[in-house]
Amino acid sequence: MPESATVNQVKQSISTPKAEKVFRAGETIMSQGEMGACAYFIQEGRVRILVEKGDGTILDMGTRGPGSIIGEMAIVDNQPRSATVKSLERCTLLEITKEDFARSVRGANPIVRLISQVILMRYRDILRRSQTLLTESPETPSPEESERAYAEQTNVVESIKLANEFKVAIVSGQLFLHYQPIISISSGRVLGLEALMRWRHPERGIVPPDEFIPMAEGSGLIIEASRWAIAEVCQMLNRLSVRRPDLEDLYVSVNLSATDFEEETFLDNFCRILQENQTQANRFHIEITERLLLQQPKNVKNSLERCRRLGMKVVIDDFGTGYSSLSYLHQYPIDTLKIDRSFVHEMRSDKTVFGLIKSILTLRENMGIDIVAEGVEEAEEVTLLSQLDCDNAQGYYFARPMPESELAAVLDARNPQV
Ligand code: C2E
Ligand code: CA
Ligand code: CA
Repeated sequence: MPESATVNQVKQSISTPKAEKVFRAGETIMSQGEMGACAYFIQEGRVRILVEKGDGTILDMGTRGPGSIIGEMAIVDNQPRSATVKSLERCTLLEITKEDFARSVRGANPIVRLISQVILMRYRDILRRSQTLLTESPETPSPEESERAYAEQTNVVESIKLANEFKVAIVSGQLFLHYQPIISISSGRVLGLEALMRWRHPERGIVPPDEFIPMAEGSGLIIEASRWAIAEVCQMLNRLSVRRPDLEDLYVSVNLSATDFEEETFLDNFCRILQENQTQANRFHIEITERLLLQQPKNVKNSLERCRRLGMKVVIDDFGTGYSSLSYLHQYPIDTLKIDRSFVHEMRSDKTVFGLIKSILTLRENMGIDIVAEGVEEAEEVTLLSQLDCDNAQGYYFARPMPESELAAVLDARNPQV
């Protein structure tokens, strides 16, 4: 099948990953004064850092080994390299490109962004002065010691590797979606499907989303992954409409993260993908968490209102696990709440939880908000939910998340064609 324009655009927007670079002993890894496009994380080998002063004298700034980062400033503030770095032996370095960094910064909290800028400015300032002050006090850890300790604490190598592998995954067809039906208990019909991302890793097999979504959000790669998922859902809906044109009301719920909303062009891209695939926006529900509303990314309210105007529904996922501040229900345009599965499980054993679900259900009458119970696993839970008049449910009891190839049979059985 020819690839859609969207898939091509996604491919073009990601630089070809060439994460690992090997330098021989004596090679120049970077030169002072050059504009640098990347930083390196040293995996193996040692390097020497040299700075040339205005009068031409060369200062030896010491060596760095595994666990250190070199060339980091160029990817942060687009200034020329402040030092020359040469390999002392064979070195294996992990590349962190400017784009990688920019994506991560876009996904970062504004306070983190501000503080990193301030630290960088101060660092450059200190560096300028320190070119004459080379003696280090014995108490303060050397930059190399501090960097190595940080790398050890934060598993930085693993996360850089995982992010690089995920970049490859997006463009090389390793991602796929499973769909889990959302059911009307009273009619047994499938009302919608939740799209859940999966990663078929060439060595590790299927990696569950809990392991890669946090990294994808932190590195900003989730934006490309979400674009891929939206395009994939559109194509699935197009295939479905050929086979079952009667199911035009069936919606698909996609999970979006705060990082997606931080990206200013995210919704424009979303709309473009819909247009390219000739998919109606009202086939989409977008699932966000309470945490996103509390983080308040810029313009989230406008973005959600725009989604609504386009005809999408806005769903709060994992409702109840966040900060229990209900004020946002008034502030933001919200259509549906998904009661987290921990509540659904405890509903039978804990009266307080049962009462809580009951009061959540009053929001339906009072505010016109739809309610879906998540993680329904037992027949008894279904009975209790029906007693409470909570009709929309999702969970293993009805169906597990499944590949598109298995959907047809479920839809034919539950939503027979008339
Ligand atoms: P979620 O959005 O709360 O998705 C529901 C999770 O509950 C899914 O896990 C689903 O397989 C699981 N589940 C469904 N029914 C049952 C049940 O009866 N019992 C139990 N124990 N679990 C059930 P999954 O697919 O592993 O996804 C985990 C999380 O990863 C999702 O939680 C969501 O937060 C995130 N995620 C998945 N796909 C995407 C995506 O495309 N984008 C983003 N941003 N996040 C995603
Ligand atoms: Ca969800
Ligand atoms: Ca959920």
